[in-house]
Order: sequence, then C-alpha cells, then structure tokens
Amino acid sequence: MIITDTHTHLYSESFDEDRSEMIKRAIDKNIERFFIPAIDSTYTKSMLQLEKDFPNHIFLMMGLHPTHVKENFKEELAHVEEMLSKRKFYAVGEIGIDLYWDKSTLDIQIEAFRHQIKLAKMHKLPIVIHCRESFDEIFNVLEQEKSDDLFGIFHCFTGTIEQAHKAISYNMKLGIGGVVTFKNGKIDQFINQIDLKHIVLETDAPYLAPKPYRGKRNESSYIIKVLEKLSELYKMNIQDIASITTENSKTVFGV
Ligand SMILES: [Zn+2]
Repeated sequence: MIITDTHTHLYSESFDEDRSEMIKRAIDKNIERFFIPAIDSTYTKSMLQLEKDFPNHIFLMMGLHPTHVKENFKEELAHVEEMLSKRKFYAVGEIGIDLYWDKSTLDIQIEAFRHQIKLAKMHKLPIVIHCRESFDEIFNVLEQEKSDDLFGIFHCFTGTIEQAHKAISYNMKLGIGGVVTFKNGKIDQFINQIDLKHIVLETDAPYLAPKPYRGKRNESSYIIKVLEKLSELYKMNIQDIASITTENSKTVFGV
C-alpha cells in the first residue's frame, strides 16, 4: 500500500525542530509520496533543500499563493515563470482566490490566478487551487479558462455536493483532508456520493489536523485518520482507498 499526500507544506517553519523525523514517521506508515505546494519566492530555497534531502519522495509545485498576492505580485509571478522554465515541477500551485483574509486584493488575486493558469497550460501542468470563501469567483475564472488542457485539484475541498460536481466538470479532482473528520465539516454528509476516482488525499500540514489532533500541528502521517474516515464513509477497506487515490494522484501529476 502506497499513500500519497497531495498537499503538504513540509518546508514550513513549524517543522524546523523535527522535519526529518516527521517525514520518516510518515514514510514508515506507507505515506511515500509528498506533493509540496509553493507559497511565494521566500520558500523556494527550503523547497529545493527538501527535495535534495528526500529525492524519492518529494515532488515540488511552483506558484504564488493567493494570500501572498501583494503589491509586488508581478515580481513574484516573474519568479514563478522563471522557475517553471528552469526545471521540472509537478503542478502550478497553490493558486486561486482567498476572500477570508483580504477582500481588497480581489482584482490582483484574479489577475495572478488567471496568469498562472496560462503558465500551467503552457507547461502542460495541472493546477492546484486554493479556494476560501470564493467559490463563485473561482468558478468564474475556470469558466473563462476551461479547456481540455486545464486540469488539476481543488485543494481542501469544503463546498457543497453541487460545488463538488461543478469542480469535477472542470477536470478537477477534490483534495480531501482533515475537514472530512470534523463534526461540522459538512463534506462527510455527501462525499460518499462522489465517485472515488475524483478524490485525492491531502493533509495541508501543518494546518487542518484531523480528529483527534484537531487544533494541533498537522503532519503527513496523520493522513491515516483521513483514510480511516473515508473507509467508514465509503464502506471500503483502507488499502483500496489508498491505492485508488494514489492512482488518481498519478493521473493528475503524471508521476
Ligand atoms: Zn496549502
């Protein structure tokens, strides 16, 4: 059994004290593939180091996170563009729109999102979408940009069943993590009506730890708790869910 964490910020400062042990803990539990979303240029160096330290396990993305779209966003996008042209990345992410932290940057968030979608198409890469209080805005952009070569993952999917179907209609898989274990997370109510071929697993570590670690630092090994919950909801064994979702991650990322 190989488990894939499709979204984990292993370079985060939260892991500075015990990063290697934490990653080994996950590998010991068969979580062997880690897809690493970018945030902005300040993290590029630590992402490359991570890849050096665990070359068989780490798959890097490149992109500008919507909450980091600020006055200097054109320089940041130039960095993304340069890195994408220089070496292999497995997705453009995480990108999207976040209206929880700052509504005043909506216009430039949309501009950055759209620009990075074009980069993804140019490099034939998937996109990994961050969507917070912004389903309508995200769907508007996807509606305008949709095409056969636009595909990817709706990371940390927390919408309704209708929004799930809509995301899937744009060639997106749903990234399911700790929220599915939350009492008020809502997606546990309908997720088993979504075919597993549309689902990938993620932790979003160090954020959004699943029950019973909710509120604590999240780490990739806790993805087992997400698997256990999905196994209960889909009435399938953990091994099958792990293998289907790992296959799905290969379809998206090409590895
Ligand atoms: Zn993230």
